[in-house]
Amino acid sequence: MPGIFILSLDCEGKWGIADQLNESHREFLSDARLRVAYASVVALLDQFGLSATFAFTSLFTLPPNQLRALPGEEISYRLPYTVSAFNDFKLGLFEGWSAPWARDMVTSRHEIACHGVTHTPWDSMDEEQAKFELALVSLTENHTFVFPRNRVRHLELLSRAGFRGYRLAPSERSRVLSLMSEFNIFAAAEKNPSIVAPQSIPAGYFINWLSGLRRSVPLGCTRLRVRHILEDAARSCGVAHFWTHPENIATAPETLLNLRTVLEEVARLRAQNKIICMTQSQYCDHLSAMAP
Ligand SMILES: [Zn+2]
Repeated sequence: MPGIFILSLDCEGKWGIADQLNESHREFLSDARLRVAYASVVALLDQFGLSATFAFTSLFTLPPNQLRALPGEEISYRLPYTVSAFNDFKLGLFEGWSAPWARDMVTSRHEIACHGVTHTPWDSMDEEQAKFELALVSLTENHTFVFPRNRVRHLELLSRAGFRGYRLAPSERSRVLSLMSEFNIFAAAEKNPSIVAPQSIPAGYFINWLSGLRRSVPLGCTRLRVRHILEDAARSCGVAHFWTHPENIATAPETLLNLRTVLEEVARLRAQNKIICMTQSQYCDHLSAMAP
């Protein structure tokens, strides 16, 4: 059995930082920058013939008229995380909040998963709030879930809402330790988790965002680290899961080089039949098929 490669992308526009929005976010998460970032990611995946999991914050995929039709006052009251979004909508500002074109761009060849309906972190919601959020839109096309900010909560509710699997949270680390780990070229693949419902999916590795101090990590170092994780997955029949946000490419376009590096290393091992590529949903199918 070869190792398994999964790529997941958290797709969120301004919803990802709705509770801390500042002027620089408004500048860097413009519609023009987001379109370039999403198109670049899709083109790169096409070039390597790979399918990925695009986990969208559901409201990010709605056009302005549908966002305007939502009960904004009630949502802002029950989910305070969303206040800045609905304040913008009252002013007719939808840039960075609404990108139905992004979902359309990826729908034919990739998995569309859910990254929260409003991106409110689930550990900040009680069950009633989480139920309220899930009822705002239809989620029938989504089979797997990526928790906003990786805050895993309310798993029974997730299962009842029809989700088969979710990405686990990486271990909590300080920013310094997280940065230091980017220099660890001996990082290991993850093991397949036990089979339960909803199915946990290995937490994976964040693809280094070339912003701020993270720019100090050389591309060559990232390549060695990625290569080691993938080769370890091939050796141990483990999982090499990588994830990023297209928004990281909108705000720091050089980050695309790191995504390209991951895909180049995957393509090399795939050609040697050492790695197979799956979406999160396919991975859940794969684990179910292995169940006794
Ligand atoms: Zn997010």
